[in-house]
Amino acid sequence: MMLDTGTLSVVLAVMSLAMAGAMALLWRIHGDYPGVPSWIAANLLQTVAILTLILRPQMPETLSIIAGNTTTAGGYLFALHGINRFTGQRPQIALSLGLLGLVAGGFALLLAIGAPAPLRSALISSVNSVIALLSAWRLMTFGLSSEGMREVAMIAAGLHLFHAAFLAARVALVLAAPPLGSLHVANLFQHVLFFEFVVALVLSSTLFILLTTRRLQTDLNRLAAIDALTGCYNRRALLELAEREVVRSERSAADLAVMMIDIDHFKPLNDTYGHAAGDAILTQVVERARATLRPVDLFGRYGGEEFCVVLPGLAPGDTMAVAERLRTAVAGSPCIVGDLSLNVSISLGVAHFGSDGRSVRDLIAAADAALYRAKTAGRNRVVFAATETRLAG
Ligand code: GH3
Ligand code: MG
Ligand code: MG
Repeated sequence: MMLDTGTLSVVLAVMSLAMAGAMALLWRIHGDYPGVPSWIAANLLQTVAILTLILRPQMPETLSIIAGNTTTAGGYLFALHGINRFTGQRPQIALSLGLLGLVAGGFALLLAIGAPAPLRSALISSVNSVIALLSAWRLMTFGLSSEGMREVAMIAAGLHLFHAAFLAARVALVLAAPPLGSLHVANLFQHVLFFEFVVALVLSSTLFILLTTRRLQTDLNRLAAIDALTGCYNRRALLELAEREVVRSERSAADLAVMMIDIDHFKPLNDTYGHAAGDAILTQVVERARATLRPVDLFGRYGGEEFCVVLPGLAPGDTMAVAERLRTAVAGSPCIVGDLSLNVSISLGVAHFGSDGRSVRDLIAAADAALYRAKTAGRNRVVFAATETRLAG
């Protein structure tokens, strides 16, 4: 059964408009996520391009051909810009405008010299194929470097790659057997062409929507794991990550140390200088402590002015030096809060995986008991769970 070319074009235009609408809804719901406005523009431009194809009999042919083809290339470029913006790259606006100028000029030239229609089809399909290939490449490199969005980005890359290959195949076909690649002659390949366009349009828009919602989800997960005041992990996230480290240590017999840290005499500081000064001290203590730690160490706020550090792979022989570094990072120089210069210190309790416990709960309890001993022994010091007080301050 041969379908009417006009009907197929109308279906394509309606689908493209519907996808622009779906994207606009996404934009309304999820605020200004980068990329979405470009994807809306891409779908709108494709709608306009297909309308010029439908309205060709009613328009000056030269205008319809130049405007229609330039608009469709613009649609592909906007989709690429959306991908660039979404993945944190700057879109190449000047280069894109230059390319569009070349496309428009190229079509004007082909019309002026009276080149056969298949050459025009070959030109636009080649341009769009290259842009789709660039989109696939960008999605793939982004997918490889992004854990949360890898799956969706790779599927979208695959789709763009397939579409680029499909357009390249059209170029070959239209040059080898001109009537087969034409959009205006009803034949089997033309039907395949229309259906591939519809599927690519709907799937790529759907995947862009999925990418955006996936990013929203990873952003929310990250926010839910962070303490709002200090920027370190909150208690829930820290316990969850500590659990993973304990499982890893259990499986591979790797060293693991847990430290509980508490700011000394924090309440009087708070009461004397105010809650805002207390907040500033908390933030500075966290900054200084984190600066002494490795990227693999987990630093979290356990309670008000109490923190917990999980140090994977830290051998018992090295723990004292790390704990001492943390202690002196805070007590070594006063915290500056406005005009005030305040002496702040911390006490630390340290526990080791194996000798002091084999679960997060037991390790934290052991480190907490050691911290309590550090407090009663005079504060500003490090105490090991398994041993007696190590005076430091
Ligand atoms: P110690 O040396 O025994 O630890 O004495 P401390 O005064 O530090 O201990 P205490 O537990 O009595 O005081 C903790 C204080 O921390 C009380 C609470 O008001 C304050 N605090 C808890 N969370 C926050 C916060 O987010 N901001 C501020 N500014 N203060 C906080
Ligand atoms: Mg305290
Ligand atoms: Mg406390």
